[in-house]
Amino acid sequence: MAASQHYVIIGNGVAGNEAASCLRAQDKDSRITLITAGRLLFYNRYELPRIFHEECDWRDFLVHEPEYYADNHIDVRRNSFVTSVDSAGKTLTLAHKESLAYDQLLVASGGGSYLPEELVESRHLLDHFNTYRAARKVEQSLPPGGRVVMLGGDVLGLDLARNLVWEDYKVTLVAADQTFWPHRPDEETRAKFLKVLEDMGMEIIDGVRPIRVEEGGKGMSARKVVLQDGRELFADVVMPFYGLSPSVDFMLGSGVDIERGLLVNPQLRTTDSSIWAAGDVCQIWSAEENSYRFYYGWKNVKHMGEIAARNMMGEDVEVDTHPDEGLRVNDKGELDSPFWEYD
Ligand SMILES: Cc1cc2nc3c(=O)[nH]c(=O)nc-3n(C[C@H](O)[C@H](O)[C@H](O)COP(=O)(O)OP(=O)(O)OC[C@H]3O[C@@H](n4cnc5c(N)ncnc54)[C@H](O)[C@@H]3O)c2cc1C
Repeated sequence: MAASQHYVIIGNGVAGNEAASCLRAQDKDSRITLITAGRLLFYNRYELPRIFHEECDWRDFLVHEPEYYADNHIDVRRNSFVTSVDSAGKTLTLAHKESLAYDQLLVASGGGSYLPEELVESRHLLDHFNTYRAARKVEQSLPPGGRVVMLGGDVLGLDLARNLVWEDYKVTLVAADQTFWPHRPDEETRAKFLKVLEDMGMEIIDGVRPIRVEEGGKGMSARKVVLQDGRELFADVVMPFYGLSPSVDFMLGSGVDIERGLLVNPQLRTTDSSIWAAGDVCQIWSAEENSYRFYYGWKNVKHMGEIAARNMMGEDVEVDTHPDEGLRVNDKGELDSPFWEYD
């Protein structure tokens, strides 16, 4: 390992923060810069549904006290969007045109929610739950007992859906191929799990696609979802949950190999020897499956942050990922996913 490096990490989520902390624990002198498009320091998004259950604000979700970064000499660049990476010159460019040089780069930029083509024009009428601000907007748009129409219903959405039902909001799930993503239950199990969701208090609509979302009129609900068979669903909030699409746009043209995510070997190195990737953005080579695959969930993503950091410092260790352990029905008769667990 070189005496002093500039480690640059793109992404302030679980993977990026675990990597930063691991780098600092073992390398007291090198410069560490953590870049995030977001405005807040690292906060736990898995806990955002708490806003429906208790009085809280963004400070309650922070994983580290703000002093942690200064104490550990980790320079956090918030509200800074990376637009491109030049692997030959070992520099990246930010949206405000600043360039930043790195010795080793870790891309931990996660993923954004995927939207099917037919809903793209309705994008401005859809709500998300991916940031504190977006979550707060949903909470404020819902009157007591208000209705959410959830489109798709991946596990991130279903976590929110169960929290809404527990607080007596009405949830209509328009199921799709991506329902339960990244779990992939077979047809029979899928039907069983949809029934469990119904028993938990959700209305389930299956086998018909939404074709557009419209604004409601005066004296009506704020949104209307039009289904392929002509049915109309009225809601206060409409939210798409069709799985994640890796955030890799800024890496196009960087020279590293990309399929859907950044392709990495089991040491999490990309096809460029100074660029590494961890978390939801990367597809890891699996010799057993003879293909690249994603691994999700807090436990996997955190572990990837650690492994990437150790290899950036000169070790040679492989990830030990835990594949999807499957959805289950818990002893309360409710659906439970290992992806909802974090520490
Ligand atoms: C609301 C919510 C709840 C979730 N709940 C669960 C759950 O219960 N179970 C589960 O398995 N998964 C959940 N997930 C998915 C979860 O985010 C991931 O599995 C995991 O946390 C990903 O961590 P990460 O570090 O890879 O990326 P993320 O946590 O997504 O962090 C990505 C970071 O990269 C930054 N970034 C992206 N592009 C750029 C750019 N161009 N320039 C600068 N910065 C950039 C972002 O600002 C962010 O800081 C949830 C996601 C959301 C949105």
